[in-house]
Amino acid sequence: MPAAKKTQQPPQTHLEDRIRGLEEQKLDIETKYRELERQLSEQCQLRTEAERRLAIQPQTGLPTHYRMDHELKDIIDKAAARKPFTVFAVAIIQLSPVYDTLKRTLKSAVTDWILYQASIRIKEVLAEGDPLFHTRENEFISVIQYAEREELEATLRRIVTHIAEPIIFSGFNLTLGANLGAAIYPSDGDDKATLLHNADIALGAAIDQKKPHAYYTEELKLSAIERIEMQNSIIKAIEAPAMKELASQFDIFYQPKVVIDSIEGGTVTARAIDAEALIRWHHPVKGLMPPDRFISIAEETGLIMPIGKWLLFQLSRTLRAWDKRGLEGIQVSVNLSPRQFRSIDIIETFKHLIERESLIPDRITIEVTETSLFEEPRAAERVIEQFKELGFRISVDDFGTGYSSLSHLHRFPLDEIKIDKSFIQNYPAGREDFAIVNSLASIATNLGYHLVAEGVERMDQLEALQKLGCSIQGYIFSRPMPEKDFTAWVEKAKKNGMKIALSPQDGPSRP
Ligand code: C2E
Ligand code: CA
Ligand code: CA
Repeated sequence: MPAAKKTQQPPQTHLEDRIRGLEEQKLDIETKYRELERQLSEQCQLRTEAERRLAIQPQTGLPTHYRMDHELKDIIDKAAARKPFTVFAVAIIQLSPVYDTLKRTLKSAVTDWILYQASIRIKEVLAEGDPLFHTRENEFISVIQYAEREELEATLRRIVTHIAEPIIFSGFNLTLGANLGAAIYPSDGDDKATLLHNADIALGAAIDQKKPHAYYTEELKLSAIERIEMQNSIIKAIEAPAMKELASQFDIFYQPKVVIDSIEGGTVTARAIDAEALIRWHHPVKGLMPPDRFISIAEETGLIMPIGKWLLFQLSRTLRAWDKRGLEGIQVSVNLSPRQFRSIDIIETFKHLIERESLIPDRITIEVTETSLFEEPRAAERVIEQFKELGFRISVDDFGTGYSSLSHLHRFPLDEIKIDKSFIQNYPAGREDFAIVNSLASIATNLGYHLVAEGVERMDQLEALQKLGCSIQGYIFSRPMPEKDFTAWVEKAKKNGMKIALSPQDGPSRP
C-alpha cells in the first residue's frame, strides 16, 4: 500500500526533509524579521521627520510656533525672575500684504529668500539674548527686554523700518513692509496667553490705524469688548423666541464611542462608554432630516448659530439628568462648525453654560475641523487655548480630509484626533489605508494624542484598530440613537459588566 511505503522511508531522507523544512522556516522568519525591521525604521524616520518639521521653520532656520508654545512660558518666567527686575515686551511682527502678492507672483525659492532676509533684519535689531520665533509664514514673535521705554520704542521702530528697506534681488528692488503689535510684561499681562492675546489686539490696531507699530492699551480692549457686548444683546433679542421654536423641531441623537478593554468572540468589554451628540431635524413636512442635508445650509446662512446654541443648552440639561441617573461617567463630544468656532461669542457661550447651566467642562469634548483651525490659525489658537483653560477637551474631526499634517496640528493644544471614516472603510485590507492609518496612529500616539476611529462597521476593522489603541465609534456598536435609547443601551452594558454584543454590518451600510 502506498501509505505503508511512505512510513518506511530510510531515516536519512527523513532527516533531510526535516532539515529542509527547518531551513524554509528560518528563511520565512528572516524575511518577516527584515520586513518588521523595515517597517520600524520607516516609522522612526517618519517620527524624526515630523519632530524636526515641528521645531524649525525651514525658510529661516528659526524655531517655530511649536517651540514657542513650549518655550515662551519659561522665557517669560525667567525674564520676570531676573534681578534687577527687567521689563519686557512680547512683540508680534506681521509682514504686510505685499508679501502675499510677491508670493503669488514669484517662485517659492525667491519668497523663501525674502523671508530669510526679513528674519535676518529682525535679528540684526534684536539684542543678543532676545529670542525670535518664526510662527507663521508671514509672522514672527519676539520677547524684547529693555531698560527704558524709549529704548523699546526705538527697537520696535527700527524693526519695522529695517524690514521696509529695499531688498535687492537679481537687480530688482523689492520693498516689504510690516506691522508690529506689542504687549508689556507685567502691566499688560503676566502670563503667556494674555500677553500674546494683547499683543495681537495691538497688532490689529496697528494694521487698522495704518501705523507701523502699536502698543496694547486698556481702551483697545474695551472697544473690542463693547463690540462683542453690542452684538450679544442684539443676538439675544432675536434669539429668545427662536430657541422655543427650535426645541419643537430639533432633537439630539447619541452614538456610543467606546474605549475598549478586550474583545472576545462577538463581545467587547468596554473600559468606558462615551458618546457623540448628533443633531436631528424633524422637519414638519419632510420628516426626519439627516444633518448632511441641512448643516451646510445652516452654516452658509448663519442659522447654525442659534441651532448650535440650542443643542448646547439642551445637552447641558441632559447631562444634569444623566448625573441623577448615575451616568456621570459619560463624556460627550459636540461638533462645532467653522462658523460657530470663529464666532465672537463662542467662549462666552460656553462660560455661560458653565455658570448658568452647571455644565462641567471635563465632560465635554469639542470637535473642530481642520478648516476651523487653519483659516485663521492665530485666532484659532487663542480660542483653543481658552477652551483648554476652561477645562474642555479638544478633538480634530474628519482628520485627513483637510490639508493639515500632524506636524501642523502640533501648534494647537489638542487632545484627540478622529480619523475620518473614509480611511477606515477599507482598513485593514486596503494597502494604502493600512499604511496611512498605521503611521498616523504611531505618530499620534507618540505626540500624545488620543486616537478615535469612526465609521467602524466590521469585525476586521474593529480588531485591527483596537490593536492600535483607538477608541471606536461606528455602526458595529450602534447607529446614533434618541436619548432614551442611548441611556438604556449604556445601562444595559453596565449591568452586563460593561460587556457589549457587537452588530457587525455585512452588506453596504445605509446612512
Ligand atoms: P461627523 O461629525 O463626522 O459625524 C459622524 C457621522 O458619521 C454621523 O452622521 C454618524 O451617524 C455617521 N456614522 C457613525 N458611524 C458610522 C458608521 O459605522 N458607518 C457610516 N457609514 N456612518 C457612520 P450624521 O449624524 O448624519 O452627521 C453628519 C455630519 O453632520 C456630522 O459628521 C457633522 O459634521 C454634522 N453634524 C451633526 N450634528 C451636528 C451638530 O450638532 N453641529 C454641527 N455643527 N454639525 C453637526
Ligand atoms: Ca464629529
Ligand atoms: Ca467625523
